[in-house]
Amino acid sequence: MDKPIKKVDIIFEIGDDYNALDVLDKALARPADDIVLDLIDSGLKGRGGAGFLTGLKWKFTKNEDSDIKYVICNADEGEPGTFKDREILDRVPEKVFVGMAICGYVIGAREGYIYLRGEYNFLVKNLLNKLETFNKQLKERNLDFVIGIRSGSGAYVCGEESALFESMEGHRGEPRNKPPYPTVAGYNKKPTVINNVETLVYVAMITRLGVNRFKELGTKDSRGSKVFSVSGDTPIPGIYELELGMPLSQFVDEFADGDAKAVQVGGASGSCVPRKKFGDTIIGFEGIPTGGSMMIFNSSRSMYNVLHDYLEFFTEESCGQCTPCRVGCQQLLKGIEAVKRGEKPPAYLDELKKLTATMRIAAKCGLGQSVGNPFNSIIDNFREEIIY
Ligand code: SF4
Repeated sequence: MDKPIKKVDIIFEIGDDYNALDVLDKALARPADDIVLDLIDSGLKGRGGAGFLTGLKWKFTKNEDSDIKYVICNADEGEPGTFKDREILDRVPEKVFVGMAICGYVIGAREGYIYLRGEYNFLVKNLLNKLETFNKQLKERNLDFVIGIRSGSGAYVCGEESALFESMEGHRGEPRNKPPYPTVAGYNKKPTVINNVETLVYVAMITRLGVNRFKELGTKDSRGSKVFSVSGDTPIPGIYELELGMPLSQFVDEFADGDAKAVQVGGASGSCVPRKKFGDTIIGFEGIPTGGSMMIFNSSRSMYNVLHDYLEFFTEESCGQCTPCRVGCQQLLKGIEAVKRGEKPPAYLDELKKLTATMRIAAKCGLGQSVGNPFNSIIDNFREEIIY
């Protein structure tokens, strides 16, 4: 709790001594099993927010018996308030490529793809140029691995890994039933490692800096640092790499405008933390995990409007495949509107909270399951703003 906030500069650092290919060569000189062990030891968890151990994911996929395997970089950055992968792909794309190539080497994949959010198509030309060179460099190293790009079409749910595979295969982007998990049957139903952009860069950086340097940062449950996109009522919006595990109060001291009443941690699908809980909330897997979005709201903001915007977003983006999510999102939206208009009593909000509990259990994917995070945290902490 008393851990001081620390800005670090691992992801975007490009010193004179930095060369992405040196990092790749360092990895290729080592047995694949050692790289996996190092990754597990590092404690690196997926930076998309779900927090599965990256090394274990690689190990499971490596152990699958299949001639064809894939590495997918999830660059479908659709969480509202999150814009850091765009910067990573723009400023240090080679680090992403290196992370993918190391993964290809480790699991025995011959193809890798960056699934790029449709709205980021302006990055494609530059990425393709750089990939042309990089793929040649992989060939020169006799690594049988090629990286390509696939563009998304703008559906939020395609950031969910199995919907992403469906989209890549040319189908409607809808989540699949799990299991099987991607490590067994991912893209084209073949064993697949899917990591987000930032996770792959950290693999490259752990290879470069060593496991111990990474483990010095963060906490026992949240090793290392992570990139945050800071937006909302802040005088300094932008992208910052911070050590994991800091209290939200220190984050607010650093980034807010002195009048923060809430911080939405983890984007629209994350939780809204009110001022009174800033000191008790840890940013990390032992507190509130986040894919990187930190939206700050000051006293000028209506939390009803904030929640309304989120619910409109989820209603729009629900793929409609399962009833709890398709109908639930609409009911939540209509429900807070009805309470606001006085057509339903304030106690109706508690009925709606029960609906989110059902959605958490019965919805098929993270979209429907997580709508209760913003809903309940805003209802619980800003109830009067919803009612009046
Ligand atoms: S939870 Fe929502 S987005 Fe996910 S599968 Fe069901 S309807 Fe589609």
